[in-house]
Amino acid sequence: MPAIKPSLRRIALANQKGGVGKTTTAINLATALATKKRVLVIDLDPQGNASTGLGLPRSERGAGSYALLVGQKPLSELMRPTRVPDLFLLPADNDLAGAEIELVGLEHREHRLRLALEAAADTLKGFDFILIDCPPSLGLLTLNALVAVESVLIPLQAEFFALEGVSQITRTIDRVRRVLNPGLTLDGIVLTMFDRRNNLSELVAADVRAFFRDKVFETVIPRNIRVSEAPSHGLPVLLYDPRSTGAQSYIKLAAELLRRERLRGGKDGSKAA
Ligand code: ADP
Ligand code: MG
Repeated sequence: MPAIKPSLRRIALANQKGGVGKTTTAINLATALATKKRVLVIDLDPQGNASTGLGLPRSERGAGSYALLVGQKPLSELMRPTRVPDLFLLPADNDLAGAEIELVGLEHREHRLRLALEAAADTLKGFDFILIDCPPSLGLLTLNALVAVESVLIPLQAEFFALEGVSQITRTIDRVRRVLNPGLTLDGIVLTMFDRRNNLSELVAADVRAFFRDKVFETVIPRNIRVSEAPSHGLPVLLYDPRSTGAQSYIKLAAELLRRERLRGGKDGSKAA
């Protein structure tokens, strides 16, 4: 089986809390990265919000990540182009809701996504990034994501119980590293829906930075109405309103991510051949 090329960066957007900005960050970070790189978004949430937000409503979805996980079809037959050049989508199919239970009975149940991506190494040759949008739970779907990636990006909403919630996901990352995927790292924490006028936002952000230090991205995503409007038009905010503070902050986040990649010795430059 051909190996996945080492320069393909695989990142899961995970946090067992819902409504913290996983999907929004997956869509918009991917769109910003796609101006320089070739990117695949995998929608692993049965809600399918990443698919909708990238212009693929439920009625048009057909087969997607579920078909890949259960081995019905290879990635090459399942992934779709989006309106954004160089941004591709593996949508959530309508059967994905059952996968959490169905996977329990399958062999290699935590490794199915990794194995399917390895089997698709040829298809993935031209790609630089895979971003996986996880459901708001730490069940088998999220586990499959954590086993298939090299690092995790945790979107965190700066609110009162934020730190408590983040310890759950970091414990899960530690456990996965020990048992299932020794190479897994915490890529970083992104503060989302940040409100500078709110003292609590600033206080929580200071706490998170004191604890996680340089794991926390300098770029903060502000609360911005244009970000929340964009998905109903099936568009990333970068296309819906590129001048909005939301769009601009995701462009900055992508630049910071690429800068961090360079610092770790990752390759940058032009798109992969
Ligand atoms: P998750 O995937 O973690 O459940 P979402 O990305 O779906 O979270 O975000 C939850 C809700 O908050 C959505 O309605 C989304 O449009 C909104 N939202 C996310 N980020 C922002 C932001 N920066 N400004 C305003 N609304 C946002
Ligand atoms: Mg989501």
